[in-house]
Amino acid sequence: MSQCFLLSMAILVRQLFLPFACLYCTTFFSRVMLEFEQFKDALSAILRELGENPGRAGMGKTSQRVVDSLVELLDGYGDSEEELTFFDVPAYDHWIEMHEIPFSSLCEHHLLPFVGKISIAYWPQNGQIIGLSKIVRMLAKFTHRLQLQERMTVELAESIFHRLGSKAVAVRVEGEHFCMSMRGVRQSGIRTITHHRCGAAPHWPF
Ligand SMILES: [Zn+2]
Repeated sequence: MSQCFLLSMAILVRQLFLPFACLYCTTFFSRVMLEFEQFKDALSAILRELGENPGRAGMGKTSQRVVDSLVELLDGYGDSEEELTFFDVPAYDHWIEMHEIPFSSLCEHHLLPFVGKISIAYWPQNGQIIGLSKIVRMLAKFTHRLQLQERMTVELAESIFHRLGSKAVAVRVEGEHFCMSMRGVRQSGIRTITHHRCGAAPHWPF
């Protein structure tokens, strides 16, 4: 679970339950609050070093907004898995393909976004299929973490393969990385394409 998520949850819980908190909890929340204050101080120091005035009008809540953004963008940690309901379609014995599902994620090296499209195909085992929206929801668990596109592609394919018990799974990810387009080589429009396949199939959609 991300530290930012923990921080925000701790702040929220502290505000709600402080009157009832035991000494241990109070100590824990005080430590978390201290870390949060240190984070705000560090962010302000970086901005000042860059020539910005973090105390100027319009930036009073920037530190809090940065934390809130990270909490929202990185809510894919944790072990909770949505219950999957299978439907029986015994006559269906072929690929089910979903093409170009939009996604956004953050690269773990620079905390900058990479965005693009994910195509997923699975070949059901014994006609056991699931609702298509379930697969789209499964994406969030992997895209809402600090990621590398290559690892995300493998994790996604392996997870779908094992959770669905399907004969085969293919995943293709096409992403544009802001750490290449906004900084570094500063070349926009470069698409990075990654693939991963699991299981066995007579032919592959991608
Ligand atoms: Zn990067």
